[in-house]
Amino acid sequence: MVLRLYNTLSGEKEVFVPFKDNFVGIYSCGPTVYGFAHIGNLRAYVFTDVLRRYLEFKGYTTRQVMNITDLDDKTIRASKEQGVSLREYTDKYIRFFFEDIDLLRIKRADVYPRVTEHIKEMVDLIKILLDKGYAYRKDGSIYFKVSKFTDYGKLAKIDLSQVKPGATVEADEYEKEDVRDFALWKEKREGEPFWVTDIGEGRPGWHIECSAMSIKYLGPTIDIHTGGVDNIFPHHQNEIAQSEAATGQRFVRYWMHCEHLLVDNKKMSKSLGNIITLRDVIDRGYDPLALQYLFVSSHYRSKLNFTWESIQYASNTLDRLNQFVERLRDYRSESGENEEITLLIRRTAERFESEMDNDLNTPGAFAAIFELVGKINLALDDGSLGTEAAKDAYGLMLRLDTVLGLLTLKEKGELSGEIEALIEEREKARKRKDFRQADEIRKKLVEMGIVLEDTKTGVRWRKK
Ligand code: AMP
Ligand code: ZN
Repeated sequence: MVLRLYNTLSGEKEVFVPFKDNFVGIYSCGPTVYGFAHIGNLRAYVFTDVLRRYLEFKGYTTRQVMNITDLDDKTIRASKEQGVSLREYTDKYIRFFFEDIDLLRIKRADVYPRVTEHIKEMVDLIKILLDKGYAYRKDGSIYFKVSKFTDYGKLAKIDLSQVKPGATVEADEYEKEDVRDFALWKEKREGEPFWVTDIGEGRPGWHIECSAMSIKYLGPTIDIHTGGVDNIFPHHQNEIAQSEAATGQRFVRYWMHCEHLLVDNKKMSKSLGNIITLRDVIDRGYDPLALQYLFVSSHYRSKLNFTWESIQYASNTLDRLNQFVERLRDYRSESGENEEITLLIRRTAERFESEMDNDLNTPGAFAAIFELVGKINLALDDGSLGTEAAKDAYGLMLRLDTVLGLLTLKEKGELSGEIEALIEEREKARKRKDFRQADEIRKKLVEMGIVLEDTKTGVRWRKK
């Protein structure tokens, strides 16, 4: 089956063919470590992770690089405000970043290069741009000359004549020849960290970091570059200009961008005060994987509106999925095999792959999974599922989970603890004549594949 990915550059879904054999080099724009990641940032990292996992599921070998921006205006300002060194300040948020991605089971990238440890690579790249006439000096700073790079604007699909200072282009305080030009190197300023280099004393601009570090770890041409849609312009557009001007080769073959996460239909931003972090989600009692489910079950190119209702729903659905897979794992039956179910399992595997091949259409992939869950649950309820089919379905769910990263199966012992607790809760509800609650609990137990039996010594449970 052929994988197609939407390429922001062409505006189309393209057949994915790696540059070299079976190998896929991926560069993903990573965190600026001046504070906690918000769940919008996390959505972008989950998207990149699912992309990589799916490529591996398809048999590709991947190498993923994610930069850590530990040097920019925000990190410098924040560390100064707290009176600690930039290193100490950013180390702390790098630790939190790794905690977050581990909680979401995001696979670690192969390399997490830090900007402050790659100044030399950036300086070397800037030297090439100066030599080739793509960069010029002005008052100790160095700028990229956008007018010399004829392809500028292709990714963002912008008309250069429309670019005005302050609107889409950061109007920084540095003097430059043309508003579209951007800083490659910023002259040393009082009270800011700086490096003494061949091109002067100062620090690199933001965009050059990704060009220098991706060339270092993945070579001049990379297969896939990811980020959020806000990275398209000017960041990624500038990355293309710098890299291609320096190497003379195509920089990225497939550009992939994740749409924004909204909160109550608004963009998450400090000024609106609607920033949510993974810690907030955990404090409200949710498993981080409920958030992972919310992200993975929506398509990465659609805006996703986060609400507390939506994560509650995600949490319930994830519980149901876990219970379904536990039930399959523990199921034994005398029933013969049912051909229809065997066929359904095979078809689900095929549908999953064809949906994912269609630009990672995860909502379609989940539709296929839930059809399987619904039909097999019926067969589990009436005992008509064969043991082999249960095993196959269990194996399939685990295989798909190598892409989705969602399941947490409880051991049988843990399961019985939870069931006993639910039974007790149900008994209490019955005693206070809250039959609705008692009924809800019974329904939940049925979904978990548990039947209750009233005996002289009290209620007992068994698996169906
Ligand atoms: P930053 O730490 O600001 O450099 O952002 C890290 C990553 O998160 C970048 O790839 C951004 O494009 C992405 N990002 C930022 N805000 C959002 C959002 N609300 N939804 C999805 N991705 C976002
Ligand atoms: Zn970047």
